[in-house]
Amino acid sequence: MDETVTPGPSRWPGGARSAAALTFDLDAEEVWIAQDPANAARPGVLSQGAYGPKVGVPLILEILARREIRATFFVPGRVAERYPKVVRAIAGAGHELAHHGYTHTSPTALSPEAEEHELARGLEILSSFAPVAGYRSPAWEFSPHTLGLLARYGFRYSSNLMDDIRPYRHDHYGIVELPVHWTLDDAPHFSFSGASWTKKIATVEEVRSIWADELAGLHQLGGSAILTMHPQVIGRPGRLRLLEETIAGLQSQPETFIGTCAQIADCVP
Ligand code: ZN
Repeated sequence: MDETVTPGPSRWPGGARSAAALTFDLDAEEVWIAQDPANAARPGVLSQGAYGPKVGVPLILEILARREIRATFFVPGRVAERYPKVVRAIAGAGHELAHHGYTHTSPTALSPEAEEHELARGLEILSSFAPVAGYRSPAWEFSPHTLGLLARYGFRYSSNLMDDIRPYRHDHYGIVELPVHWTLDDAPHFSFSGASWTKKIATVEEVRSIWADELAGLHQLGGSAILTMHPQVIGRPGRLRLLEETIAGLQSQPETFIGTCAQIADCVP
């Protein structure tokens, strides 16, 4: 342990120095439809999303079971309607289900009434599978109304903002924030859209190096690592090994508490 850095306040279970959560945003087709409604009639575009529930999730669930890890899956309501068996399999394996919109629409693009409708409808659908405590906006962004709505609908945590390395409570609302960052998101590294040929797909080696550095730094500072992944991205055959290696690396640090987002949020006084 590097003693030159003072660890954060130890609030993690078992006196752990840091915390980590594996999170998966099951966007499926909805991310493509939200980008352009005309994509709803483009089976080739949609198939990129369909890969998530069809192939990615079963392979990810196998790895999580083998590693005895409970993860958090953020699911848009419409994805749960389209793939109820997949969502039942996720919840049945003991993983946490959390809210990711009804459609995959940013709250900033919605009227206050439409935002509440999205939140209420998504919550109603997801709650029919398992209790729901958390919310991740489809855009990691809030409208002026989002936090008030989350409080009113009984959410305990949000996982959207990038202003810290440890969870904290939002003033006035009492909602816990579990901070995220692009660094520990698979999409900015790996995602590629046929609509834009401006960036190449990162190699697994590049992402392994970026994730290893960030996870080591977070551990040293006593932070919480909220890995944000997408079954249609991390679920590609060449990347699943990175997922399992990342989990194994976290598990090899006995001073890291690995839990669901709800478990980590509950550590915040
Ligand atoms: Zn998403």
